[in-house]
Amino acid sequence: MRIRRILFALALPAALFSFLLARARAGGPQQDQKKYSQTPTIEEYQPKSTLVTKEHKVERAKFPFIDIHSHHWNPTAEEVDRLVREMDTINLRVMVNLSGGTGDQLRQTVATMKGRHPDRFVVFANLSYDDINTPGYGKRAAARLEQDVKKSGAQGLKIFKNFGMDLKYATGERVHVDDPEFDPVWDKCAELGLPVLIHIAEPLPFFDPWDYHNERWLELKQFPGRARPPEKYPPFETLMTERNHLFAKHPKTNFIAAHLAFHGNDLERLGKTLDALPNMYVDIAAVLAELGRQPYSAHDFLVKYQDRVLMGKDIYDVNEYKWYFRALETRDEYFEYYRPRHAFWRIYGFQVPDEVLKKVYYKNALKLVPGIDAKAFPE
Ligand SMILES: [Zn+2]
Repeated sequence: MRIRRILFALALPAALFSFLLARARAGGPQQDQKKYSQTPTIEEYQPKSTLVTKEHKVERAKFPFIDIHSHHWNPTAEEVDRLVREMDTINLRVMVNLSGGTGDQLRQTVATMKGRHPDRFVVFANLSYDDINTPGYGKRAAARLEQDVKKSGAQGLKIFKNFGMDLKYATGERVHVDDPEFDPVWDKCAELGLPVLIHIAEPLPFFDPWDYHNERWLELKQFPGRARPPEKYPPFETLMTERNHLFAKHPKTNFIAAHLAFHGNDLERLGKTLDALPNMYVDIAAVLAELGRQPYSAHDFLVKYQDRVLMGKDIYDVNEYKWYFRALETRDEYFEYYRPRHAFWRIYGFQVPDEVLKKVYYKNALKLVPGIDAKAFPE
């Protein structure tokens, strides 16, 4: 009895003391405790991986490579010189600028890029749609392209994403991807041996409702204008059908469908599409997370379709290529991706054999794009 009374007499001041001590510590841990017991938003939740596994940071590509998908609008001489210095640090041998424009703008861009560094850049032309409502548009566009190639030095044609999507005639009718008005343009590309790098549609989730099941919820929150609701835009499948019809209708024209043709989430479908359309190629620009979340399938796909896939990055940042090198060249597991709005998941390396890597890095581009000096690349 007496012992219990003594213990009680001691416990009370001790509890009071620790309470005062906790208050004196400015309430930090207590407040944190409260905050962390609540459900975080998906942007707040940033768990640190505890996985311990081999890491291979690849700062420089194993082979010199060609970036088939980059954008540099009206670059200045200083910007171009800086680009070359940065390209050298990662083994980027030839950069394809898809944003050359047409006419004077194109001539100027070719002069600034190739004039200073002839063997380091390729410039693709773009179409002007300014006179699309005047009869005979397709033939005029084809003739302008021929001038852009023969007089100004364009080495390919890039078609931007508004084609098939937002581009409309004055009547309000959408320009369909397989619109016969453009046939002279595709035929001209076949005649001149020019590849067409074409961006049709957008990632499938942009066409789906923006709800908590949407894989691109975050991107659609950050960029609501990227949503493609059915009241305003053609359905994804309509665009795929028109695109495949375009490629089938022009078997002599080589088309590079940008961003894995937006089938990176369904490589079996992409494989079947490539099987059906021998003049179709794809780049991997900005869709690395699709491959990185299915490393076994990605590896097997790249081995099977090694002659049809090209290296590309899209938005230029010299520091972001290393994710592509690491995914293509290593078997690293569960590493963070560089753009959370594309993927909230981590990715895995799918290391392909050197012969496949060489094709993706440069051999396929050398086959498709005229006028690149092959001597700068290994056999
Ligand atoms: Zn692009």
